Amino acid sequence: MDDVSFYQQGARIGVLTTEPVGLLDYLAPEGGVAEGQIVVCPLGPRRVMGVVWGRGEGSFDLAKLRPVARAVDAAPLSAELRDFLGRAAEYTLTPLPTMLRMAMRAPDLDKPPAERRIIMRAGPEPSRMTEARQAVMRVIDEHGGASFAPSELAQLAGVGSSVVKGLVAAGTLAEMSAPKDLPYPRLDPELPGKALAPDQEIAAEALSAAVAAGSYGTTLLRGVTGSGKTEVYLEAVAACLRAGRQALVLLPEIALSAAFLDRVEARFGARPGEWHSGVSRTERRRLWHMSGSGDVGLVVGARSALFLPFRDLGLIVVDEEHDSSYKQEDTVYYSARDMAVLRGHTASAQVVLASATPSLESWVNAASGKYQRLDLRSRYGQAELPDMATVDLRAEDMPGGSWISPTLAHAVETRRARGEQSLLFLNRRGYAPVTVCRACGEQIGCQQCDARMVEHRFQNRLVCHQCGESRPIPTECPACGVEGKLAPVGPGVERLAEEVAIRFPDAKTTVLSSDLFGSARALKQAIAEIAQGDTEIIIGTQLVAKGHNFPRLTLVGVIDADLGLQGADLRAAERSFQLMRQVAGRAGRQPGAEPGLALLQTHQPDHPVIRSILSGDDEGFWEAESGMRRAAGMPPFGRLAGIIMSHPDSAVLNAFARDLAARADPIREAGAELYGPAPAPIARIRGRHRMRMLIHAPRQAAIQKAISDWLDPVKLPTNMRLSVDIDPQSF
Ligand code: ADP
Ligand code: ZN
Repeated sequence: MDDVSFYQQGARIGVLTTEPVGLLDYLAPEGGVAEGQIVVCPLGPRRVMGVVWGRGEGSFDLAKLRPVARAVDAAPLSAELRDFLGRAAEYTLTPLPTMLRMAMRAPDLDKPPAERRIIMRAGPEPSRMTEARQAVMRVIDEHGGASFAPSELAQLAGVGSSVVKGLVAAGTLAEMSAPKDLPYPRLDPELPGKALAPDQEIAAEALSAAVAAGSYGTTLLRGVTGSGKTEVYLEAVAACLRAGRQALVLLPEIALSAAFLDRVEARFGARPGEWHSGVSRTERRRLWHMSGSGDVGLVVGARSALFLPFRDLGLIVVDEEHDSSYKQEDTVYYSARDMAVLRGHTASAQVVLASATPSLESWVNAASGKYQRLDLRSRYGQAELPDMATVDLRAEDMPGGSWISPTLAHAVETRRARGEQSLLFLNRRGYAPVTVCRACGEQIGCQQCDARMVEHRFQNRLVCHQCGESRPIPTECPACGVEGKLAPVGPGVERLAEEVAIRFPDAKTTVLSSDLFGSARALKQAIAEIAQGDTEIIIGTQLVAKGHNFPRLTLVGVIDADLGLQGADLRAAERSFQLMRQVAGRAGRQPGAEPGLALLQTHQPDHPVIRSILSGDDEGFWEAESGMRRAAGMPPFGRLAGIIMSHPDSAVLNAFARDLAARADPIREAGAELYGPAPAPIARIRGRHRMRMLIHAPRQAAIQKAISDWLDPVKLPTNMRLSVDIDPQSF
């Protein structure tokens, strides 16, 4: 902001384009151009977008250079953001132009804002409110009165544009042109927050002081769900706003953000900016520009919000930091947690990682003093965690096709009799994970992927969870053609719901599974109904594990605690532990009643993970787990990288992968080991065969450099894709 360099007209400038060619030299246009300015440049016959990255370096003849076509009407990308993108590209081994595209995700960035027409609320509702009109007003209310393009508003409401026009004619809405995007309402950090409990107070003060100091630092904020972490980090947000800087809160699940926005509004008197795929194009465009001009104080978003062009970012909160959705494994492979820490460095911002069950990485970093650690010891206003017990399935009378043990069923009945809720947790969407033909033994698979089709009986379809491909459930076997012999094998939530309906025929039940809700709004509504309504039994996938508050829920039954304990995945134990701990934590207690209860159905009650959950000895679990990782030199004590190659033709893929492995000298010279090539964990997706190599290196090895030395000279055959995944989540 202060040290912006400016290039006079005709000066040689380096422009980082968003094309694979990357950095190109141009001449500064008429009127000159600032460093970081987004520009449109001629490239051959085309026009491409780019950012003025610095002085031009090339040897290209000055006389032959072309000037950039024009500057885009947006604040220049700050030196901080450019620094961040450079470092993120280096760390993740992503080409810099690809990384730059992540930061330029504003819709219609190259279009001047003057053409925009927007619709806003302008007056009271007319006396005649049709259903269509109500739908329009709902959209506006749900977005806190935000502005929309007329067509977009109609589309979001699912109505024709004449409905919107009618509301404009009635004076309820106004259509106007918005020459500039409107700033967000200011959040007021001086409004009083809740009176904090003593350990909340200590944590809030430590964070606020760190934020006020204005330097980088990372804190692991630990405390069970309901211990008041959110309340604490909102105080850090207040400190950040007071310092005149911007704050960013990352949430793992869009469905959670609605409740969070309400909470922010209650605390600061206005709603924050919102950034995720469910937000309208107009709003995203507005937020992108306002983050750059400093006209939004707090942004709540998904992982991609880390790439917004904040003018002055002072705080980044990563809520539920252990959540696997923070890892992106598409185009650019990155962990939002790691990138948040990196951005914290470049922005001199405080980073807060909040979780009840931190990732092993964060736990180790806190233990070694690299991160500050703040703990909230108890549930806010509640002394106890739920009681936990296992149900040993080997000793229970369980007929085939039944997944609810007599012990668990009895516990559910007891809760129902007391007017309390029970949650039955099974982390498997659909009806049954496998559909098998009893005539020929065929398991129905996806034609495009190396994956089984999962029966979704509620929708009467078989669905591939890899590529989303689906088809009606057939009556005859696609392999042998025999009719009526297809049978579901294994449980999914839908099948569990069926058993619940048989066992508890008069109970009011709700199934919470992401695929059963068409929109975030429908899901939000279902969650609100469970919290207030008369649902007795909730049947859910991991969707329910995340921060919802169901006050009448006192029993959690984990249907298959063994699911996820097995497998070659190094993180299996960690993930199971986190998930079961989160789910069990949903069981609260009624005032004056007994503590909540979590029952884990298992065939291996002596498994170390199950035992740590039962004993409540989280520290013991992390210590044991980190000891094992350390001994094996696995992350975070050693380093891993995955090389994923894919091609439609398996022979071409095989030959390429073998050839690549034979040339991996730079990897071995760096002291690292190369494993593979082998079929990737999912060997085929959407018709593309996939192979993988794994690199395992000591912590201090410069693996990014070794991988670049190895792969940079490689020319990819036609149609071959290759990506690098630093710190892969599963292997
Ligand atoms: P966490 O983020 O750790 O899950 P929350 O901050 O959401 O916990 O707190 C859980 C519940 O307790 C929320 O409903 C919150 O409003 C309430 N709460 C937390 N701290 C306080 C406080 N100091 N005073 C009053 N209510 C509080
Ligand atoms: Zn598929």
